[in-house]
Amino acid sequence: MKRKMIMIIALLLLASLLTAFTICIDPGHQEKANLSQEQIAPGSKETKAKVSIGTKGVSTGIPEYVFNLELSFILRDRLQEEGFNVFMTRERHDVDISNIERAEFANSMAADLCIRIHANYSSDPSLKGTMLLIPSSTATYTAPIYEESRRAAEKIMASLREIEGITSLGIRVREDMTGFNWSKVPVLIFEAGFMSNPEEDVLLASQDYREALVEAIVSGVVDYFLSRR
Ligand SMILES: [Zn+2]
Repeated sequence: MKRKMIMIIALLLLASLLTAFTICIDPGHQEKANLSQEQIAPGSKETKAKVSIGTKGVSTGIPEYVFNLELSFILRDRLQEEGFNVFMTRERHDVDISNIERAEFANSMAADLCIRIHANYSSDPSLKGTMLLIPSSTATYTAPIYEESRRAAEKIMASLREIEGITSLGIRVREDMTGFNWSKVPVLIFEAGFMSNPEEDVLLASQDYREALVEAIVSGVVDYFLSRR
């Protein structure tokens, strides 16, 4: 009985520690691409489409934007259960929110971490595995968020590697992501796997695998915030 009370108090304390943190989830893409252009970084002459169309499951036919939102809902619910304050850039498919706008939304929420959910594509159908993308340490606009973005990514990658049979492609730095370059808060992209790989596409559609991925992200995120205090 006493032990149970202590457990409950410990859980409540943990939840109240985590309530202090705000997480933004950005489910990548949307129903219709918006190919009009926006600057890839503040002051840059280079532009990219506001929102690209994303990929599609080679076996399941599931569009990436559908997968991204479904996984994001599971992640949102689990993070809320842990006590985090969670916002999403979209909760529907029929929206039109550019990558700059998504970054600015996370900035305006003063998110402690922004997790962008995507699935991958390759012209090589044998390529599979999960990957985390983070902003660059050298670009002036992302230098201030590099360190925390990397630390969060390392914690998440460590717990993803514990999923049995998973292929981990590690953490990659990217300078060409509009959604990174406009972010003022730590940010990363979770690339769940390759929808161009016939087996991994089927796996990504399974509820069990989705829940395993989400559990790994949540445990990495909890580790990150507990170690940050
Ligand atoms: Zn994508």
